[in-house]
Parts: sequence; C-alpha cells; structure tokens
Amino acid sequence: MSDSAQNNGETAVEEVDAVQADATEEVETSFAELGLSKELLQTLDELGYEKPTPIQAKAIPELFGGHDVIGQAQTGSGKTAAFGLPLLDYLDPSSEETQAVVLTPTRELCIQVTQAMRAYAEHLEGVEVVAVFGGAPIREQQARLRHGAQVVVATVGRMMDLISRQSLVLTSARYVVLDEADEMLDLGFIEDVEKILRMCPSGRQTLLFSATMPEPVARLAQTYMYDPVTIRVTPRKLTVDSVEQAYVMVEPKDKLQRVVEVLKAEEPEQAIIFCRTKIGAARLDRALSDKGLRVKALHGDLSQGQRDGVMISFKEHKVPLLVATDIAARGLDIEHVTHVINYDLPNNPEIYVHRIGRTGRVGRTGRAITFATAKQREDLKTIERVVKAPIGEWEPPEERLEHAPRPRRRERPVEPDDDGTVKLFVNRGRRGGIEEEDLRWAITEGAVIPEEAIASVRVLDRFSFVELEAGEAEKAVEFLDGTKLKGKQIRMEVARS
Ligand code: AMP
Repeated sequence: MSDSAQNNGETAVEEVDAVQADATEEVETSFAELGLSKELLQTLDELGYEKPTPIQAKAIPELFGGHDVIGQAQTGSGKTAAFGLPLLDYLDPSSEETQAVVLTPTRELCIQVTQAMRAYAEHLEGVEVVAVFGGAPIREQQARLRHGAQVVVATVGRMMDLISRQSLVLTSARYVVLDEADEMLDLGFIEDVEKILRMCPSGRQTLLFSATMPEPVARLAQTYMYDPVTIRVTPRKLTVDSVEQAYVMVEPKDKLQRVVEVLKAEEPEQAIIFCRTKIGAARLDRALSDKGLRVKALHGDLSQGQRDGVMISFKEHKVPLLVATDIAARGLDIEHVTHVINYDLPNNPEIYVHRIGRTGRVGRTGRAITFATAKQREDLKTIERVVKAPIGEWEPPEERLEHAPRPRRRERPVEPDDDGTVKLFVNRGRRGGIEEEDLRWAITEGAVIPEEAIASVRVLDRFSFVELEAGEAEKAVEFLDGTKLKGKQIRMEVARS
C-alpha cells in the first residue's frame, strides 16, 4: 500500500463519532442482521458474499439510521456495496426520478461502480442504473436518462454537461455519494462537485469516500454534510512494493497448459499456487504431478497428519511447488517463497494482497503471476488500483522484450476535445518515478511524434495525463501502451473522464 493510503491524518473535520475498523478483522454480523431486503440477500448469496466486510458492517447501519457518512476506505475494502446496498434498498422503483447519484473521478471507476450496482440490483425490479461519463456519445446517455434512471453514476464533467443541457435534474436526488473524493481533488473537480451538491435537495443523505483526507476534502465535508459519522478502515499493513506482479490472460481451457509453461520458464525455487476451491486444488495437484512436476497440495480434504506432512516437505524444500486454497493457507507460517501464482483470480483484492504478501520479503524481490480470463479483466484492473502498482503482461524471465504485447485495447473510437486534442491517461506518476521529461521523451523518441503535437503533459502523484493532437493520439497508444518506461511497464489509454 502507498503512504498516502495509510495517511489518516490531516483532517479538519471534528470527529465526534469516528469509528475505526481493521480491514483484517473478522466481522461477526451477517448481511441479514444488517437489515437488508430479502431480494438483496438473495443477490449477495448468489454473488458468494458470505459476510460483510468491516466497512460494510460499520457503514450500513449508519446509513439505514439516516446519517451522513465519511468512509475513509479504499478500493478493495468493499466500499461500493457499503454505500450501494442501503442506497438500493432506499429507492422507490415506482418513481422514475433520479433519486441517487454517485460521483466518481474517472471513467474507469464510473464503469466499475455501475457494474457493481447493476449486479446488486439484479433482483430489484424496475431499478435502472445509468452510467454517464465523458468520451462517449452524450446522445445515448441523454436517451437513457430520458427513460428514467433512479441511480445515476457519473464522472463530474459529464454530469455538469448533462445538467447544463437539462438532461439531468437533481431535485429528487436524496442520496449522494462522492466516491474517491481525494482523487476528484487531485484532478481539479472539487469546485464542480460543490456546484453539484448545491443542486441537490438539502434534506439529502451525503456519503463521502476517500482513501485520504486532505484539507479541501475535509472542508467540503464540513460544509456540505450534516453531522457526519466517520468510519475508518485501516488498510492491512502489507508491503507489496518488493513484488513484481504480472498477469497471464488465458482461456479457461488453456490454464493448465499455461501454468506448466510459466512454471518451466520461471523455475521457482519455491512457489505457492493458489486455487479458489479445494476440488480445483486437488485437480491441479494431480495434473501437475502427471506432467512430472514435483508438487504437493494443501486443501481442506486432508487429515491433519497429511497436512503436517505436506507442510514439512515444503518447508524443508523437498518440493518446490505447493498448491493451496486460501482457507488451507490461512495461518501457515510460510513466509518466504520466491513465487506466488494465482491460478484462480481471487474474488477480492484483499485476498490478492494477502496471497502475494507471502513473497518478496527480506530484501529480495518476489514474483506474483496472476491468471485471468477475459471476463476477469475488470477484476484485474480493480486489483491494480488497490495495489497501486502496474501489473503488466507476463514475460518469461530470460527474454527481455523491448515492446511487450499490448495488454489492453480501446473499446470506442477516439473523440477529440473541442480544441482538437485527445487526452491520454498513463497509469504511472511521480510515485512511479515518472517525470514530465520522461513522458515527452517517450512520445517523441519512442512513438516518433513531433514535439509540437504535445499540447500538455501533467504528471500527478499516481498517474499522468498527456494531451496530444488528435491525429497522433492513436499512434502514441499503439507504440507506448505496454512498453517500459524507467524499467517498468506502463499502460497508456484514452482518458474518458
Ligand atoms: P470495492 O472495494 O467496492 O471495489 O470491492 C472490492 C471487491 O470486493 C469487489 O470485487 C467486490 O465484488 C468484492 N466484495 C465486496 N464486498 C464483499 C463481501 N462482503 N464478500 C466478498 N467479496 C466482496
């Protein structure tokens, strides 16, 4: 986790009611006890959410109690469900008015929150969740809004635009969520956020989520929220800085073959290979043994004696590979493996952090290689946001390619801004050692684009923006997305907020 993620200080808000929770803490309450409707309970059951996360357990009762809430929590904590579930229970599906708005700093988060909200609303008939964000045709979004959207998830700029075109009215928005408020501040959206808040009814319930509480965010809370309850979730203190992370995009049917390939290329001294289920673990154990690899498995179906035997042979380095489920690996005192392989993507970034925290300790770099299917791309992006480090496409260690294959593709055609430029997002910033000159150099030297085509370069803490003449943007993405800058892979894509 980054420093800022753990920076809980600097708040100007008087915290009368601060509630502290530890992200690793076991939660006692169940979703049913939190008072959610049976439709939502059914959905959660189908999604496999067994228990509320700490932020959910603390925030949901406050929200049902009608309080404004400041949640100091980050992606991965389960914050979307923490605000989304009470919000959905609160809506009146028989009215088509916009009753809830969620503001997000980026298009990426907007889409992610919308997908989550739609999933949570699965069994709530008549509830429409509409996403509005920049870079996509405004007409379609206007049409969707005309059909009625009780929940609107929006980036700030596009929401302002839709309000000014009278496609969106906020007079019935009784529930307002500001997600990742500190990032909105970083991106210069705070004044627009204030304007939006002023358009919402005064009797609304306001929620603000932010990983950190810089002064302007605290001031905004003080001005626009009514007697808020602050809930802080302390992130688990695991460093993953010394872990090199990579992903392997794979079709489900090819997973076994690819894992064998990865293991042969990596030649791990010791690796834990994580599976989601015990059946999956047992199957992988057998398949790897059949391929002639030296492997042992730990899963819930083994007797205590068998488990001890497996542990001993792994710890004494008699076998280099251990296949395990999360539950079986819980509490294991295996700390210093050279590799963690996520054969199945964990369904929660917290679990990911926990898994990969087993490697890369004591001054050495570990490697974490994660398998993901096309359907899991978004989940992988969520993980990337949580760990705040780029997860590039896996390359065999002995090959050092200049240009790695492009990890992602644009989904929509590029629409230039009014000034004829296109804004590109780069997933690294000052914290990743990037400076303005580095990006200028990459564009002019790497992508061979003339200096004059660069309208601006803005390096922020965790990411950067480059504005290029529209005609050159595609070329920049083509050449630079997935390549290495200052030794680390970068992702470059058209910014959509
Ligand atoms: P968020 O912090 O809202 O981005 O959520 C992070 C991830 O955790 C998402 O993939 C959610 O689907 C998942 N998640 C949220 N709440 C729970 C829960 N109670 N149990 C299991 N997974 C959860």
